[in-house]
Amino acid sequence: MRTEVKSTCCYCGVGCGVLIETEAGNITGLRGDPDHPANRGRLCTKGATLNQTVNPAYRLQFPEKRVSRGGAGQRLGWDQALDEAAERFAATIKQHGPDSVAFYISGQLMTEDYYVFNKLAKGLIGTNNVDTNSRLCMSSAVAGYKQTLGADAPPCSYADILQAKVIFITGANPAIAHPIVFRYIEDARAANPDLKIIVADPRRTESAEIADLHLPIKPGSDIALFNGMLHVLIAEGLVDQAYVEAHTSGFEALADIVKKYTPDQVAAACGVPVESIVQAARWFGRSDASLSLYCQGLNQSAHGTHNNAGIIHLHLATGQIGKPGAGPFSLTGQPNAMGGREVGGLANLLSAHRDMANPEHRAEVARL
Ligand code: SF4
Repeated sequence: MRTEVKSTCCYCGVGCGVLIETEAGNITGLRGDPDHPANRGRLCTKGATLNQTVNPAYRLQFPEKRVSRGGAGQRLGWDQALDEAAERFAATIKQHGPDSVAFYISGQLMTEDYYVFNKLAKGLIGTNNVDTNSRLCMSSAVAGYKQTLGADAPPCSYADILQAKVIFITGANPAIAHPIVFRYIEDARAANPDLKIIVADPRRTESAEIADLHLPIKPGSDIALFNGMLHVLIAEGLVDQAYVEAHTSGFEALADIVKKYTPDQVAAACGVPVESIVQAARWFGRSDASLSLYCQGLNQSAHGTHNNAGIIHLHLATGQIGKPGAGPFSLTGQPNAMGGREVGGLANLLSAHRDMANPEHRAEVARL
C-alpha cells in the first residue's frame, strides 16, 4: 500500500515541506507539500530530486564501526552501537572531565532534537560544548539582531515578500541559493509591476538579472554602502522621526558617524555611481514597505555583525520594520537554524532566548 510521509527538504534555508511516497518500505516518489507554509507545494530541482539521494549506494543504512582510522567499516547492531557510543563518552568524561567532549549538531535537526542534545550536554554532562550550523553561518546575523533589536528574532516571514514595495537583496543570491524564496520574489514582481528590486552584489548574479537597480559594489564595501544610503536618507528628510524617537536610542550618534559617508565618498569606496546610491536610498526610504534580504555575503566576514547592523539601521531609521512587507530579513543557510536557537542551539545560549552569560538565566535553567 502506498503512503505519504511529511518531511522537510534539507538542502537550503527555505525549508520546503515535502511529501514522501513509500510502498513496501521503499521510497517510490516525492512531491512538494501543498499545505507547507514555506513552499505551498513548490520545490526547486534540488528538492524535487531528493528521493534519488536515498539510493543505498550513497547512504549509511546501519551503524558501522571502524576498528582503525581509514579502515573498512564493520556492521554493528543498534543496541551495541548505542552502548558503545555511551560508554566511550562516559569513560572520556570520567577520565578528562565534561569539557573533553563536544557536540556539533545540524541545522537540519528538528527543534525537539536540538533541545534534547542541549539538555544532554548542558544539563546532564555539564559542558557548553554544543554548537551548530548557527555558529558557522548565522552567528553574525544573531549578533547583529541582538545588538540592534535586542533579540535574535528575525522580524519577517516569507509572506512579507509578496507585500513588499521595495526588495533590497544584498549579500545573497537567492535565485541559486534559496530558489523558492526567489519564486516568491518573481511572484511579487508579477503581481506588482511597480515593485522595485535592488541587488547589491559585486557579481551580476542570476538574482541581479531581475533587478531594477544593480549595485556592483567592491567586495567588502557593504558598510560604506549602507552608511551612504543612511546619509542620503537623513539629508533628504526620509528618516521617520516619530519612529526613531519612539523606538530607538543612539540615533544622533549614528547620524554623526554617517555624516562623512557622502555620496561622492561612498561612490569611490564602493565603485558605483553616485546616482545609484542616491536612487537606492530614495526607493528604500520613500516606499510604503521596504524589505531587505541578506545572507552569507554579509555574515561571512571579519565584520559580519557590523554588516548586519548596517542594514538594520536603515530599517530602524525609516520605520521600515514591524509592518507588512517591511523589515530586515536574514536568509539562513539551513532550514531549522532558528528553531535550534530557540532551544539553546549555540554554546553561549540556553533555551528560549536565555543567555549563558546571564547568572539569572543560568540559575533558572539549572533549577529546572
Ligand atoms: S528551495 Fe531549498 S528547501 Fe526548497 S526545495 Fe529547493 S533546496 Fe529544498
